Amino acid sequence: MSVSKMEEGKVFVVSGPSGSGKGTVIGILQEIYTGMEVAVSATTRAPREGEAEGVNYFYKTKAEFEELIKNDEVLEYTIYNGNYYGTLKSEAERITEKGKDLVLEIEVNGCGQMKRKLGSRCVAIMLTAPDSKELERRLRGRGTETEDEIQRRLRRALDEVKEVTKYDYLLINENGKADKCAEDLLAVITAERLKADRAEEYLRENYPEI
Ligand code: 5GP
Repeated sequence: MSVSKMEEGKVFVVSGPSGSGKGTVIGILQEIYTGMEVAVSATTRAPREGEAEGVNYFYKTKAEFEELIKNDEVLEYTIYNGNYYGTLKSEAERITEKGKDLVLEIEVNGCGQMKRKLGSRCVAIMLTAPDSKELERRLRGRGTETEDEIQRRLRRALDEVKEVTKYDYLLINENGKADKCAEDLLAVITAERLKADRAEEYLRENYPEI
């Protein structure tokens, strides 16, 4: 990806532990705001029921993923519960070239990598459940993972929430209020787009006499 492209816009990183309801909230956001697109990541984890290639993820073997890393085709990547997950440069480019806001739905390590790369152009948003009990209840309710997997995800979820102090925004997804949370997320995106850090470019283009 050309760095200049990435420099033009903001990159919204949305992190949220399993059970935060992040997927639902982002789904609602996509319905109410079409100026953004979520990059489809690559992963070595197996597809869950109902997931599709190129929609939820690009599913790769370990060897294929390691080839992507070697060829510098990922913007960031991490190992999560024993599987690789990473943002493809090609996906980020496809979205930013359309002039849309790039949204990355990635975990905390990936967020740190993007922050280091992009500085203030990376807006980091943590989305979580109201409390740890509710997080566990939601995690169990999904019913797609084994007990072992649930325990690992729960531990990892708590570790992730702990990292919230490194984020720019904290959104709480209250029970039954995913709509409200999506509105909050849109408010963040809107406010970030209106920031005066674009002022110099704006003046140059629109007030050339100054
Ligand atoms: P899941 O297996 O539940 O789909 O995803 C597990 C975790 O990996 C989630 O926290 C999700 O946000 C994160 N994730 C998904 N894609 C990427 C990616 O491209 N990079 C990073 N760093 N994390 C990702």
